Amino acid sequence: MLALRKIIPAAGIQLTDEPAPATPAPGHVLIAVHAAGICGSDLHAEGWDASYGFMAPCLPLTLGHEFAGHVTAVGAGVTGLGVGDPVVCAPTLTCGTCAACRAGDPQGCTARRIIGLHLDGGFAPVASIPAANAHALPRDLALDVAALAEPLAVAITAVDVSGLRPGDRVAVLGPGPIGLGIALVAQARGAHVLLVGLDDGPRLDRARAMGIAACADLRDGPLQDAAVRHLGRAPDAVIEATGHPQSVTDALQTVRSGGVVTVAGIHHDSLSLDLNLLVRGKKQLRGTHDSTPATFAEAIARLAADPGLYAGMISHRLPLSQARQGFDLARSRAAQKVMLFPQETPE
Ligand SMILES: [Zn+2]
Ligand SMILES: [Zn+2]
Repeated sequence: MLALRKIIPAAGIQLTDEPAPATPAPGHVLIAVHAAGICGSDLHAEGWDASYGFMAPCLPLTLGHEFAGHVTAVGAGVTGLGVGDPVVCAPTLTCGTCAACRAGDPQGCTARRIIGLHLDGGFAPVASIPAANAHALPRDLALDVAALAEPLAVAITAVDVSGLRPGDRVAVLGPGPIGLGIALVAQARGAHVLLVGLDDGPRLDRARAMGIAACADLRDGPLQDAAVRHLGRAPDAVIEATGHPQSVTDALQTVRSGGVVTVAGIHHDSLSLDLNLLVRGKKQLRGTHDSTPATFAEAIARLAADPGLYAGMISHRLPLSQARQGFDLARSRAAQKVMLFPQETPE
């Protein structure tokens, strides 16, 4: 079978011919992968950014952690899933034995592994994953929309971490898939949302078409001005999803006194920060990453409740054989979510 693999600890990815897993290991299921989204972390892995060196001992492996499909076989001991069931992969594996796991805090697990970054993922027609990581889907939910569950769960987690409440004003920096997801969820929960990009015409147009009325491009002026123009005053919260360290400084300068800045982007440069911004402004700086079982369940529920809305996040659909073009698109500011189809039939 065709698989998109990370082979060596250096920049690059390869489409290779791999044996398809024939039978699932005990506790595992085989999934015929219908749709698999390209994530920012796949781009970091391809580019071999320094913060992805953790993958080196796991290579070679098949990338892809945002995927949905049908169960084609179940291993010994699997209950609750059967052949033909539509499922989406929740890619985080926890160790179950560290202090955080024993305390019921899977997000705090010190030995977390991610399907598609530490072990074989879904950029292939067949994936084998632990049954516990395969979440059953409503039968009428389109599988390409279902494949958005992981990035949407990451977005929901970021909104939760920010502590946003109904009626709050929030600026979301970065109109990529995570930033757009954060904006949609924050708005659905009753916040006043401003979505901000930089030279991001196509992605902001897409966000407007999906109902985010207040969008601003920093090409047209600084963040503080855009916030006052669109939100009426300094925001209660800023959520960063750009990966550009400077945007964290902009966020701290812009958020109101006592406000909260939440950082969601993966940054490959460090930042020199004027801490008096934080101290004198009595502001808070928070980090968010990954998702939780609760936010993953909420993501599936939101997708199922309004699949037409969220389908708008998918800007490009390509067969897996065109993965390279897909990665180039995902890296460009023209694309939102690029979805690959390992069965080679984009719809
Ligand atoms: Zn992802
Ligand atoms: Zn653990």
